[in-house]
Formats: sequence, C-alpha cells, structure tokens
Amino acid sequence: MPDPGQYRCWVEISRTRLRENYRAIKQVVGPDVIVCPVIKADAYRHGATAVAEVLEQEGAEWFAVSSAEEGISLRECGVKARLLIMADFLPASRPAFIDYQLTPVLHHLNDIAIWNALAPGSSYHLKIDSGMGRLGTNARVEDIVTAIKAAPDVHLEGLMSHFASSADYDSKQTDKQLARFQQVATALKEADRFPAILHLASTIPVAYARSETWQTLVRPGHAIYGYVSPARGEHPSRQLHVRPVLHWYASVLTVKHIDAGDPVGYGAIFRATKPMRIAVISAGYADGLPHRLGNRGHVIANATKCSILGAVSMDVTTIDVTDVDVQPGDRVTLIGDEHDAQEMAREAGTISYAALCGISARVRRVYID
Ligand SMILES: *Cc1c(COP(=O)(O)O)cnc(C)c1O
Repeated sequence: MPDPGQYRCWVEISRTRLRENYRAIKQVVGPDVIVCPVIKADAYRHGATAVAEVLEQEGAEWFAVSSAEEGISLRECGVKARLLIMADFLPASRPAFIDYQLTPVLHHLNDIAIWNALAPGSSYHLKIDSGMGRLGTNARVEDIVTAIKAAPDVHLEGLMSHFASSADYDSKQTDKQLARFQQVATALKEADRFPAILHLASTIPVAYARSETWQTLVRPGHAIYGYVSPARGEHPSRQLHVRPVLHWYASVLTVKHIDAGDPVGYGAIFRATKPMRIAVISAGYADGLPHRLGNRGHVIANATKCSILGAVSMDVTTIDVTDVDVQPGDRVTLIGDEHDAQEMAREAGTISYAALCGISARVRRVYID
C-alpha cells in the first residue's frame, strides 16, 4: 500500500479479493460449469492484463472481452487462455482472429460463411438474439441450422445468448429467453450440430443461483470485481458473496475555513450557510468522478462520510470537513468497502458498472496482494 498522499489519485486493486471472488463463483456453479471471467473494458478498469494474470493462476481457461483489439493486447501480454471476442467481427478486425487465436462470436448468419472462407479449421461461437433485441441472430431455427451446415470447414463450438432483465424477477423475459435458447439448442442436437459449450448467464443468474441458465459456461463480469446488483421482485436468496476488488483514493490538497455566505466552486452552486471547514481533494471528472455528484455525492475522509460541496471540477473536488480531522496529504476514499461503486452510482444517478468503467486512465493503479 502506498503511503497516504503518495499519489494525487489512485486505485488499489486487491489480487487476493480477485482470487476470492473467482473462487466464490466457482463454488456456486460447481465443477461442471466453466467460469469465463469477463474482462472487457480493461476489466471494468481493474486492468485486464493484471486481472487475467491472476485468474489464469487460479485456473481460468477462458476470458471474454468485447473487441479484437482487447484480445490482441492480452495475447501480447502473454495470456494463453481462450479469448472469446463478444462484440467485434468487423471486417478490419477479422485477420486478427487468426493471427492471435481469438475466438469470434458471430451474430449474423452471413458471418458464418465469411468465417468458413477465412479460417478453415477454426472454431466460432454463434450468438442468438433470444429476446434481448441487441446482438445475435434472430433468424428462424431452420435457417440457423442451414447456415451452420453450409459452413463445413469451421466448427460451431459454442451457442451463446445474453439476458436483458435477469435482475427482474417480476419479468418473464428471462424464462422466455431461456426457452428460445433451448429451442435452438434442441434443433442443433437434432441436426447433429450440437455445440460443446452453451452459455447465457452473466453475474446475476449466477449470484441468485438460477442454475437452469448456467448450461456449460457462465460469463461473470461484475461479480469478479466484487459486485452483484440487487434483484427486484420476489427473488431467491443470493448464493454468491463477493467483495469489491478496487478501492479508489484521492489526496487532500488543502484544507481551509470559509464563512457563511461564501461560494464554493464553479457557478457558485454551493454557498455556505455557516462557517465551515472545507478540503479540496485531487480528483475530478477527468479522473472519472461523476460530474453529477456535484452538491449531492459523498466521499469518506477519516472514516466519516463527507458531502461534496459545489460542482465537481475537472481535476479537483471540494468536500465538507467541518467536523472531521483532515490534513493536507491525507487520503480520502471515493470507492471503498464503506462507500462502494453502487453507493457512488446511486448518488450520481448512474449504475455501478458505469462508475467503475468511468475511472480514467489518469488514475494510477496500484496492485496489492
Ligand atoms: C458484459 C457482459 C457480461 C458480463 O456481465 P456482468 O453483469 O458484468 O456479469 C456477460 N455477457 C455479455 C455478452 C456481456 O456483454
């Protein structure tokens, strides 16, 4: 751990927690289900290479990312595991799938023919739109089977889909999506094209143990990093317990007194109603601290929840430390166990995924065991 105040703004990423979360997921799904950690978007800003390194040591044999570019950078850093590219089969990316041994997820039946011509002997996963209305083919089952049969030089290794509303137990959408998925899987079996790997579940169906969705492989992202979004409606109890891997800190630049009536920051959107002590911390929206936290968010200073005063600026943010013993150089917590990304997201009117992914490249990363 760096000394308090060593950096202006930094995240600490715990390798131990990463391992523990991965093991907890393995424990829930059991030995027969492959856990494929999702490390897209630079592992939700935890650092894809470092995360892959730790999880490969834990035995992970698959990772999922979004783009060929993300896959290439993992390969260049020596990652040996299978890499599933979930959202990029653009023409410019295609050669990289072969050069870097990346496994494409195909979303359109035409892409199967293209892959067949381009990469004989290779595998692919086919994504079906089971009702989310985003990526994945929504072709008729017969047409899917025909397209697969028409591409004999490439191997259908996986059938994949993704849930739109798995946190919402009042919704029938998840069951409908699963039924559609099973229908396609059954047709593939009858056509003697049954893939070895079937997958649809991300964090939520794992955490709430909707085991009929696990099939052969699960794709948790959020849970790997220590988060599970709350389920809505009448839901089973959560089986998975994970803890935040990342803590986010900033140093206090200065502490001072202001008088009643004094404004704070851009636009003077905060004005003191009494004499106050304020601290200016070295984190702003250029670091990824949501601008929407202006006048409504909190950070933790000296184990005390402190309000953000006025606008969040590009590089600095002002907080109320009237009743808190804080000195220049002290560190404050933006995301930690006592104030996690879900709490920050609630205050900013966003989601925890976006709060994590928003942490910018300028924020120094420190890996701890
Ligand atoms: C991002 C993503 C995941 C991981 O979702 P989490 O909710 O973070 O577990 C899984 N599958 C697909 C297709 C994704 O895009």
